[in-house]
Amino acid sequence: MGLGNVSVGTDAIDCSLEIKKKRENDIVVALAGNPNVGKSTVFNGMTGLRQHTGNWAGKTVSTAQGYASYNEQGYVLVDIPGCYSLHTRSPEEEVAREFICSGIPDVVVAVCDAVCLERSLGLAIQILELTDRVVVCVNLMDEAEKKHIRIDLKGLQRRLGVPVVGTAARKGEGLEGVYQAVNRVAGQEEDRHGKAFRGGNPAELCQGMVVYEDEGYLEPDRKKDRFFTGKRTAAPMMLLFLFGAFWLTIVGANYPSQWLREFFSFLEGEMMKGFVWLGAPEWLREMLVYGIYRVVAWIVAVMLPPMAIFFPLFTMMEDSGYLPRVAFNMDKCFRKCHACGKQSLTMAMGFGCNAAGVVGCRIIDSPRERLIAILTNSFVPCNGRFPTLIAIIVMFFAGGMAGFRKSFAAALFLACFIMLGIGATFFVSWALSVTVLKGEPSSFVLELPPYRRPQVGRVIVRSVCDRTIFVLGRAVAAAAPAGAVLWLLANTQINGMTVLRCLAQALEPFAVWFGLDGVILLAFILGFPANEIVVPIMIMAYLSQGTLSEISDPNVLKRLLVDNGWTWETAICTMLFSLMHWPCATACLTIRKETGSWKWMAAALAIPTAVGGAVCMAVHILAAAVGGF
Ligand code: GDP
Repeated sequence: MGLGNVSVGTDAIDCSLEIKKKRENDIVVALAGNPNVGKSTVFNGMTGLRQHTGNWAGKTVSTAQGYASYNEQGYVLVDIPGCYSLHTRSPEEEVAREFICSGIPDVVVAVCDAVCLERSLGLAIQILELTDRVVVCVNLMDEAEKKHIRIDLKGLQRRLGVPVVGTAARKGEGLEGVYQAVNRVAGQEEDRHGKAFRGGNPAELCQGMVVYEDEGYLEPDRKKDRFFTGKRTAAPMMLLFLFGAFWLTIVGANYPSQWLREFFSFLEGEMMKGFVWLGAPEWLREMLVYGIYRVVAWIVAVMLPPMAIFFPLFTMMEDSGYLPRVAFNMDKCFRKCHACGKQSLTMAMGFGCNAAGVVGCRIIDSPRERLIAILTNSFVPCNGRFPTLIAIIVMFFAGGMAGFRKSFAAALFLACFIMLGIGATFFVSWALSVTVLKGEPSSFVLELPPYRRPQVGRVIVRSVCDRTIFVLGRAVAAAAPAGAVLWLLANTQINGMTVLRCLAQALEPFAVWFGLDGVILLAFILGFPANEIVVPIMIMAYLSQGTLSEISDPNVLKRLLVDNGWTWETAICTMLFSLMHWPCATACLTIRKETGSWKWMAAALAIPTAVGGAVCMAVHILAAAVGGF
């Protein structure tokens, strides 16, 4: 099986979708199916791509196109977003129906779940009403076997009148059979009339074809559900997972961060020597190395290790089936705020990257609730803001401790801050739903998928490739030009003072109202392209020097901040403002694209900034009232 050149499209699928054939006789295959039946896994298995997979319904919100070849035949595979029916009016379902009817696909592969075949066959039957160029792919055969569910695939094929192939896509089993069946169907004479109700309804079809040898096959999952979604156990378990993920991230990121810094600092010396050898003018080599390179190196050293730990942990929760349980547990709270429980899933996505969280809001059907979720997404700190929060916590609130106690206290503190962000999400969602976005919460069906053992190896590869590199790439792309601008600001002087310092001084009278100072506020403003550069900018401005300093020791950094007037109040207010202020440039552009409106983008900027500003001001007033802290 050869893997060809591939292209992945992330636009919503429509009939004008450009099908990238390589040869005239390439077969266009549409993959359709209910959410969570393993469609993306089949797609990945056939194309060798890494389309996002996850153990919950609704995470495929965009479509992918990939190329595959088998026995010298080329295939263009199109992964349609999962849907339950073609007869309702949700956007995904309309799009799926239109695409199937458009005549673009030569063959439709209807992917079904072997564990609940009767339910997933419903969509396959609806597809058969539209076209008979169908292959039914019964996936998850390995899980069915484990649960002692026997399926007579040949019998089913006779009843349906189209090829039925069993697969275990996660292990790559049965995919060759899919290619062969696709070839057979593609070679048939055209018959676009379909054979409506060809095999009766799903229940009749499955009669005698599916045998449950163990009637209690659902019991183990039910037991786990009673624990993870139980009244008394659900909340402590969620808090424990949140805290555990942070603790592991903080502890684990320390050493690799240190190694990376040392490596980058060695590289910097070599780079400088290289530029000198090349005879580059001083201003150029300083701007390139001390401006651009240092900012980028700082970001990679500070961000990469926590991301490389946090994302796999998060993906593991996703893969195991725990995330939809979180949405289920949180549903009540969101309902009280007249919002949608699925918002907890988009919030969870926001932990990685708010732009990804905003795109993820497509899983919420009601436009009103989707807008609420989009507008409040930046209340969960993305990975770019974690380093700022962690650095301040380690310096000011866990500084006196050592070893285990230090990391424990830091993780606890961070978890409290995140809870504050979640609290703000609830409050703002409620406030929006009783004012500009009035309405009753819509009901939604959230499918709780079976618990599955995460595939650790794949989880690591996927989270590193899909998320870590994506977020890091974005940060570096924003930081490189920002590094150059910063270098210019820090190296141009007006009346003996750097422009950076002048700007900070101009902001000072305004910033003190929020418990901050001019430098901090300026760092947040200049950090608009990417939040990761906020701390480096502060250091640069405080030191009033033209280059970004390498301050890896938290004690040295703390001394610098304290010497520049930082108190506990400043630390708390900086953390609060980091948690609640305007989303970064990428997130803003994504919001504009998703809402199609500059107005809502402006609202998404203004709301967290107003809340953050108000909270900081309250802390400042309180601190002034008690004589400072
Ligand atoms: P989609 O929503 O239909 O695209 O489903 P995904 O491809 O994201 O798969 C959902 C979950 O099922 C993921 O956790 C996959 O790893 C898992 N999965 C997919 N196919 C198989 C399979 O054949 N066997 C097993 N055991 N798990 C599978």
